[in-house]
Amino acid sequence: MAEKTVRTRYAPSPTGFMHVGNLRTALYEYLVAKSQNGKFVLRIEDTDRERLVEGAVDVIYDTMKLAGLKHDEGPDIGGDFGPYVQSERKDMYLPYAEQLIKEGKAYRCFCTKERLEKLQEDSVGGGYDRHCRNLPQEEIDRLLAEGIPYVIRQKMPIEGSTTFTDAVFGEITVENSELQDQILIKTDGYPTYNFANVIDDHTMGITHVVRGCEYLSSTPKYNLLYEAFGWEIPTYIHLPLIMGKDADGNVSKLSKRHGATGFYDLINEGYLPQAIINYIALLGWCPKDNQEIFTLAELEKEFDVSGISKSPSIFDYDKLSWFNGEYLKAMTPEEFTDVCMPYYKKVFGDREMPFEKFAEILQKRTTKLTDIPEMLGFFAELPEYDKELFVNKKSKTNLENAPVVLREAYERLKALPTWDNTSIHDCLINMAVEKELKNGTVMWPVRIAAAGKTVTPGGAVEILDILGREESLRRLEIGLEKLGA
Ligand code: GLU
Repeated sequence: MAEKTVRTRYAPSPTGFMHVGNLRTALYEYLVAKSQNGKFVLRIEDTDRERLVEGAVDVIYDTMKLAGLKHDEGPDIGGDFGPYVQSERKDMYLPYAEQLIKEGKAYRCFCTKERLEKLQEDSVGGGYDRHCRNLPQEEIDRLLAEGIPYVIRQKMPIEGSTTFTDAVFGEITVENSELQDQILIKTDGYPTYNFANVIDDHTMGITHVVRGCEYLSSTPKYNLLYEAFGWEIPTYIHLPLIMGKDADGNVSKLSKRHGATGFYDLINEGYLPQAIINYIALLGWCPKDNQEIFTLAELEKEFDVSGISKSPSIFDYDKLSWFNGEYLKAMTPEEFTDVCMPYYKKVFGDREMPFEKFAEILQKRTTKLTDIPEMLGFFAELPEYDKELFVNKKSKTNLENAPVVLREAYERLKALPTWDNTSIHDCLINMAVEKELKNGTVMWPVRIAAAGKTVTPGGAVEILDILGREESLRRLEIGLEKLGA
């Protein structure tokens, strides 16, 4: 018999925000499917009307697109198992619940809100007392005839235990006595989330359910539903928690106080979508050979559920920055310029600048695009600086030699017939040779005067080249003035 096609689904609730945890779930769903030639389905779970946020579905589409996670079926592209939006499926669920009533596996519960509230007050943690579980049929008929509102509850087994095996967390057992007679259909006729997702997963032929480990404790309830219907239980893949590093060195569940946690927030912080995806792929999954840089296509080949860890993963912003830096380095200078352009514009507006020269000085040392304005700001405007910056031990520069060296460099540079990287370089190096100085003793004061700061991308030569003759000489004159030379 042919093997069943693997089908996974990403089932976000459109609440307006795509947390890295959601994105990881989507990515792993995608990879579980793609690594096994399967299908990846997008289902929008919008039944919780109170939590809906306008435009949130677009955020989901945009995120998936930017992340490169192309679904094979979904609300926007259709498929054989639609509709793919839960609210459009709302009439599908009641008949399934009624089937369970007929089979004696579910019942109508007519208890009033007041009764349930009282019950909650009286019985600490005891939950629903199954009052309506065995109502006589005449009583049920009477209540129905009177039009008393009801919910439909599942009859959970009272004794024994339910065991299931999760692909990551292994065997998990719960005592059935701990499980409430869960509500399947609410008084308004709509399903609860727990019911709808089981019906949807089954009717959409989902074979592998990937979700955060916060759903582990609900899984026995889902399984009792599958069993009640006699349906095949999907493979469960629960993902480890994502933690953040606290200031005191401890870790706690990743939240905004650790830094940006939304996909778009990370992008706004200067991370590339492909670097975020690569990093997130490793947040809970370890490849066999410890490779770190993966394209999505490579991940599709290499991903294997057995590499998912159950221990919490720590979202490390430094590591993400490292990934980002690697992706930036691997770009062509043109690609690099494209991704940097919004940040260049922040510094230079629409001014035409030697962008290819920026790529030369920035590409190797940039980890976050948002650092670029700060790194390049001095090109737009010479910062206020103190003459103490001319003092540098390593370069053997002090306030006595700096004015002399800078004056000499200034005169030589001023006399240059052409202004380009090579001629500036040769001019300053020749000066060092002729004057028997360390290169650094010449370069340091020139760079300080050109940039007005000690830490710059690129050295004196690159900076002078980018600034151009006129602006360079102007800045060197300011430096000379500061030094009283
Ligand atoms: N709609 C649920 C959520 O966004 C999905 C849970 C699941 O994967 O079943 O959390």
